[in-house]
This record gives sequence, structure tokens and C-alpha cells, in this order.
Amino acid sequence: MDTTTDLLVQAIDRTRLDAVRRDDADGHGNRVAPFAAVGQGEPLRCCLRFAEPGERIALISYAPFDHPSVWTEVGPVYIHADRCEGYAASGDLPAQLATGPRLLRTYRADDTMNYEHNTVVPDQADLEPVIRRLLSQTDVATVHVRNLDSQCFMYSVGVGEGPGRTSA
Ligand SMILES: [Zn+2]
Repeated sequence: MDTTTDLLVQAIDRTRLDAVRRDDADGHGNRVAPFAAVGQGEPLRCCLRFAEPGERIALISYAPFDHPSVWTEVGPVYIHADRCEGYAASGDLPAQLATGPRLLRTYRADDTMNYEHNTVVPDQADLEPVIRRLLSQTDVATVHVRNLDSQCFMYSVGVGEGPGRTSA
């Protein structure tokens, strides 16, 4: 892929979040327990930005894959406790979460992990060129961005519709 190809940045699916909030259950045995954000490093996986001090947030368990897979991993993520704007679909990486240190995990089209291309991005380095390079591999369909220290899931990136194609 070249630099004009759109990236498809995906936060947690809004429908899944609505169900978690409505049912007061994250699907992994935990209730949603809202608390006030400190505002110092709570990345919200619904809006893909850091929480502001005092915002009502919750820590839930989440698995990026919503279908049975041996690569399913469940881990903690911060979300807004109440329904929120979410992340507006765009071809750009979320501004507050676009640099290292991160672990980039690569998956094939069938969601099996492609270990060969898993990549660590160092502190302050831009993720975008690295993600573009990984997505240009024929056997990489999706890149999962994770924290480096805790390895918690942040968001996923695939290839968007790209120039020249029309959307229905
Ligand atoms: Zn949110």
C-alpha cells in the first residue's frame, strides 16, 4: 500500500459497548463499575483519546475478536461509563495515541496471528509509517496496537476503501 491508501482505524464497536452498558456486564463476568477519571493516562478505547479529569469511566474486560478464535485474548480497557460520541471513522490514527512505545501485533485475513511481523515501536516514534509498512505485506490484514508495558489492546487498523473506489 502507498501513502495515499486510507487506513481504517477501529475503536471498540459501538454496538458491543451499548450492550455492555445496557446489561451492566462486560461478557467476562464483570459488572461495569463507573468512577471518576484521574486524567493521567487512562486511554479510552471508545473515543481513542485520554480521559479528562472527572469524566465517568469504567474498566472492563474486552477481547478484540468477537468470534471464537484460539487467538482471542481478554484484557482490561477503559471506556466511558455512559454512551459517548465514540471515535469518528477516519483514515488518521488517533492523535493522542499515534506514537510509541507500542507493540504492533499483526493478523492475517482469517485473524490468525502473523508472528513474523509483530513489531515494537520505540518511545515517541510515529506509528503510521510502521503500520503502513506492515499492512503492505500480503499476509497482514489487520494490525492491533497495544501498550508496550502492559500489552493492553488499544485499537485496530486495517486497510480502508482507498482512492478510486466508491462506497455504497
Ligand atoms: Zn467514549
